[in-house]
Amino acid sequence: MVSYKELGLVNTREMFAKAIKGGYAIPAFNFNNMEQLQAIIKAAAETKSPVILQVSKGARNYANQTLLRYMAQGAVEYAKELGWEKPQIVLHLDHGDSFELCKSCVDFGFSSVMIDASSLPYEENIALTKKVVEYAHKYDVTVEAELGVLAGVEDEVSSAVSHYTKPEEVVDFATRTGCDSLAISIGTSHGAYKFTPEQCTRDPKTGKLVPPPLAFDVLDAIMEQLPGFPIVLHGSSSVPQEYVDMINSMGGKLPDAVGIPEEQLRKASESAVCKINIDSDSRLAFTAAVRKVLTEKPGEFDPRKYCGVARDFMEDLYKHKIIDVLGSNGKA
Ligand SMILES: [Zn+2]
Repeated sequence: MVSYKELGLVNTREMFAKAIKGGYAIPAFNFNNMEQLQAIIKAAAETKSPVILQVSKGARNYANQTLLRYMAQGAVEYAKELGWEKPQIVLHLDHGDSFELCKSCVDFGFSSVMIDASSLPYEENIALTKKVVEYAHKYDVTVEAELGVLAGVEDEVSSAVSHYTKPEEVVDFATRTGCDSLAISIGTSHGAYKFTPEQCTRDPKTGKLVPPPLAFDVLDAIMEQLPGFPIVLHGSSSVPQEYVDMINSMGGKLPDAVGIPEEQLRKASESAVCKINIDSDSRLAFTAAVRKVLTEKPGEFDPRKYCGVARDFMEDLYKHKIIDVLGSNGKA
């Protein structure tokens, strides 16, 4: 048993309370390799933004849970080296799907876990979430739960259709489970293909897809039911066109990739939405950089030469999200 407190990590409680009061959101960036982690920590340290490092089940399978834990521990020390005296860093399990997995993360130094039982019937979601909350709270680890279903594909999490969170269920759910934050479904979606072309309209000038707007009326109704309660948005990448174009112009094939417009995420950040998950955008930045370097310098074979550029791309992306979209800069 290792407590996250010994590792210099923090849970989400205070961070979320401040974010709701201050009208901004905390970035939750997924990581599964060193370059991503370096870029996240540099961006957060230089902008003095609280940050949530997320590990998905897929990341655990790819990089090994033990290694990721020690990387997060190292990230705290790295942040201090960069001049961030009191780093506000959370290590969070993204989409935990069983009590055992959540328990193992709590025991292993995570400061926050998500139990995603949203695919189960309502009462089963409550029962499993409550069980995780009871265990996690013993160790002051915060718990994110989910109500409603997001469309899209993210590692092992996938659904063809979305079901918006029902505002009439949130009070009962939050009260009976004791969860610390709630991931809701209001039209965000996992992955780089968040909407089919049929769900979008086309901008007559550019010919690009324009996605349907988020259901802010559902968000408003939820906030009315649970005033001041921390709300989380998953699947909130914007799929920057510049990366998609770079990838497609250099041998890639990402037809009609589409994300959530940043103006809508900025608007959400000002509400009780206090955690916004961004994963696909960093994958796109990484891939665009690697394609660019290898296309321009076909003789390059030192991974540092393309992973280093990928790291720079990701750092720029993270800083842009922190400063221009979520507004969390200067808050840690
Ligand atoms: Zn998610």
